[in-house]
Amino acid sequence: MADSIRHINLSHVVLPLKTAISDAKVFTGRQKPMTEVHFLFAEITTADGLEGVGFSYSKRAGGPAQFAHAKQVADNLIGENPSDIGKLFVKLEWAGASVGRSGVAIQALAAIDVALWDLKSKRAGLPLSKLIGSHRDSVRTYNTSGGFLNAPLDEVIENASRSREAGIGGIKIKVGHPDRNVDMTRLTAMREHLGDDFPLMVDANQQWDRPTAMRMCRAMEPFNLIWIEEPLDAYDYEGHADLARVIDTPIATGEMLASVAEHLKLIDTKSCDVIQPDCPRVGGITEFLRLTTIAAQAGLQLAPHFAMEIHCHLAATYPIEPWVEHFDWLDPLFNERMQIADGRMIVSDRPGLGVTISDQLRAWTVDTFEVGAR
Ligand SMILES: [Mg+2]
Repeated sequence: MADSIRHINLSHVVLPLKTAISDAKVFTGRQKPMTEVHFLFAEITTADGLEGVGFSYSKRAGGPAQFAHAKQVADNLIGENPSDIGKLFVKLEWAGASVGRSGVAIQALAAIDVALWDLKSKRAGLPLSKLIGSHRDSVRTYNTSGGFLNAPLDEVIENASRSREAGIGGIKIKVGHPDRNVDMTRLTAMREHLGDDFPLMVDANQQWDRPTAMRMCRAMEPFNLIWIEEPLDAYDYEGHADLARVIDTPIATGEMLASVAEHLKLIDTKSCDVIQPDCPRVGGITEFLRLTTIAAQAGLQLAPHFAMEIHCHLAATYPIEPWVEHFDWLDPLFNERMQIADGRMIVSDRPGLGVTISDQLRAWTVDTFEVGAR
């Protein structure tokens, strides 16, 4: 008899950051420094005793809303075959149809979708990447967390050295400071520190207007950057397309988009060279794969945003050599650590995502909800 979903446990987890961090959005006064990250964890158990774990997240507002939405729809899964992931995702979308197919509504489903994929891979005895179909067993990785704008330049340089010594293959620094000279000073110092060829990226976090973005992208052309990220507002498709057309340095964007439909418009309008979907933010693995199939067809490079524990597997399945963002913030939530060597993140060979929930995650859990029989 086919297996069936017996029990679902949802957890709202609040992870405190060691230091409050600021990117350009804080320096332009649009956001407060970030002090914590909210997570929605889904743990799914089946009649056969298999377990899957998945998560979604929110920075600043939105975490409690994701948890509340997931609570309302989760009981639709009890008794269903956990391998019917496509059908179940659509069923959950219909359960919440009134609040749409983007943003919080599908981010709440993402935790469940990821858990179902984790469970299916474990049933097959395969890492998630192998279940989907891998192109490689390790992925180029770069560090972001050392390059925030709140950190003084000498600290950013020290962080870059530490990342490189740990085997990380690229460094991204934040730009988009209201004083453009600050950006150019920090970039010049970092390029000098790393040497001409070490992979280096910049991220303006959407804080330039169109004329500033054009000037800054042109000024940054000599720095041999791997990409310039979010030079404009995330929804300025036309502005990004203008830059992508005239700037030699690849233009990257997509992390803030909250559905596959929004990403497809990026592809249709030729708005970027590097697409940066975020699996939990676009609704989970089912949705992410729908998008990356089309992105690969369009010849785009891939550099998923955040959540390396999921994205390392997904990037390994992309036909064009991708980059994965190394963020160690989530380390305390899991018992395992991502392995890094020679500039690359090694895809775990453990079944599923290859992560198990830590005691620290339980300690940081502020609310739980259960449905079904244990
Ligand atoms: Mg970014």
